[in-house]
Amino acid sequence: MVRAYVALGANLGDAAAALRRAVETMGKLPKTQVLQSSSLYKTAPLDTDSGGELPAPGEDYFNAVVELDTGLTAPDLLTHLQKIEQQAGRERPYRNAPRTLDLDLLLYGSARIDSVRLILPHPRMWQRAFVLLPLAEIAPGLVSSLRLAAVEHQRIERLSEPFLR
Ligand code: AMP
Repeated sequence: MVRAYVALGANLGDAAAALRRAVETMGKLPKTQVLQSSSLYKTAPLDTDSGGELPAPGEDYFNAVVELDTGLTAPDLLTHLQKIEQQAGRERPYRNAPRTLDLDLLLYGSARIDSVRLILPHPRMWQRAFVLLPLAEIAPGLVSSLRLAAVEHQRIERLSEPFLR
């Protein structure tokens, strides 16, 4: 089994419900268990083309990170995550379009992969408060205080409502 971390984001429709459904589905993947989940976070949309510094149009995002144990290979896990995205009705009409569900594989054990389909660790994870804060909540040893300081100017709200019940 390999310890893996997946970031979830959504900003269309009932985004929190979409994230909860995605976690439930991840728990039913072959050879996979959901160990824990962060709280739910809310962030204003940012333009990733500008390095995530400029505001982008659209609804606020809901974000969370979950910790998995999986016997799937990293590419197989990514394939399953992409299927879950598709089932949630994700369309990509243009870059940074609002999305019903976005799943990013952040870390897969200590694997370092640089293939066409899959880059690990996720290449942009260290620039995003909406990834690092929830990740630090459930795996504090993985996110240094320097990493957190680098994103502290990004606005993000931790919601008090429980994410998983
Ligand atoms: P996005 O629009 O952010 O969901 O990006 C999806 C694209 O990123 C897909 O073509 C994936 O094959 C690719 N990708 C590369 N590395 C990763 C990763 N670690 N997690 C998720 N998608 C990845």
